[in-house]
Amino acid sequence: MIVILKKHPDQEKLRALLGGIEALGLKTNYSEGTETTIIGLIGDTTRVDVDAVRANDIVEDVRRVSEPYKKANRRFHPDDSIISVGGVKVGEGFFNVIAGPCSIESEEQLTSIAQEVKRSGATMLRGGAFKPRTSPYSFQGLENEGLRLLLRAREKTGLPIVTEIMSETQLEEFREVDLIQVGARNMQNFRLLKALGTCGKPILLKRGLSSTIEEFLMSAEYIMAGGNDQVILCERGIRTFETAVRNTLDISVVPLIKRLSHLPVIIDPSHAAGIAWMVEPLARTAVAAGADGLMIEVHNNPKAALCDGAQSLTPLQFDGLMRQMRSRVSFEGKQFP
Ligand code: PEP
Ligand code: MN
Repeated sequence: MIVILKKHPDQEKLRALLGGIEALGLKTNYSEGTETTIIGLIGDTTRVDVDAVRANDIVEDVRRVSEPYKKANRRFHPDDSIISVGGVKVGEGFFNVIAGPCSIESEEQLTSIAQEVKRSGATMLRGGAFKPRTSPYSFQGLENEGLRLLLRAREKTGLPIVTEIMSETQLEEFREVDLIQVGARNMQNFRLLKALGTCGKPILLKRGLSSTIEEFLMSAEYIMAGGNDQVILCERGIRTFETAVRNTLDISVVPLIKRLSHLPVIIDPSHAAGIAWMVEPLARTAVAAGADGLMIEVHNNPKAALCDGAQSLTPLQFDGLMRQMRSRVSFEGKQFP
């Protein structure tokens, strides 16, 4: 349920209204936007006397929200959210490109890719230290050593760092990470999501391989329900009957989520395509659809990559993609931060 307030509500009446709602055992989510100010009610609202609330002279209207996600819902927060990641803004008006290798393999590899993607205009550096591989015999990542190398690459380039967490038991080791990634395979790891809800750090939540948009938003809600509003959503392709591509990029996520939620949405064309040459056309589609950014895998020697080489761009190809992006991003009315 949402309570829409009249402009410039009397502060004493507002406090009384909030107190009355909270006395019913409900939580309130206060959102002061540019156009409207809204109180979102979270919990069992059946005991709320809607007519009595509507009769309050600071209240414009009261509406029921049927969607199961509340804090992630645009009705609760009409303005777009802007998330700050290590000082870089993500969200309406800003277009970010997160780039880097699928997996961190060595200091030389990560440092050289980091410097090159920065030169081409990437705004954050990605790199997997803990890799969720289908086979237990595949390269699992450099683990804590990888995290250490990421911190060094940040020191050298100044780029905020993004890396995937696998379990809530790793939160202490991830305290220096600027943006914690939840991979597609962990989108419904509810214990992890709950722990991230209280970690106070921005989260990049990737859509599960076979998750609906509502399930995706409910996973964001898990994080937000714990008090962490800093969630960025990432579409990375879903499983369909099609086998010609690694996954099917569901571009409709962008306009749909922009309507349903206030959270920023970025696109990962690398995992969607699974093929390097297709990354650029999908990236163009993402910009045109109104995405807030991209996540692109870049490798200095894709043929020798320990993970996801087939979909990785060389730094030179990435530079070409970024040149393409510049004019298209400004055409869409957005800017690089
Ligand atoms: C990744 O970003 O390297 C990754 C494993 O992505 P996803 O979880 O989308 O498969
Ligand atoms: Mn990958």
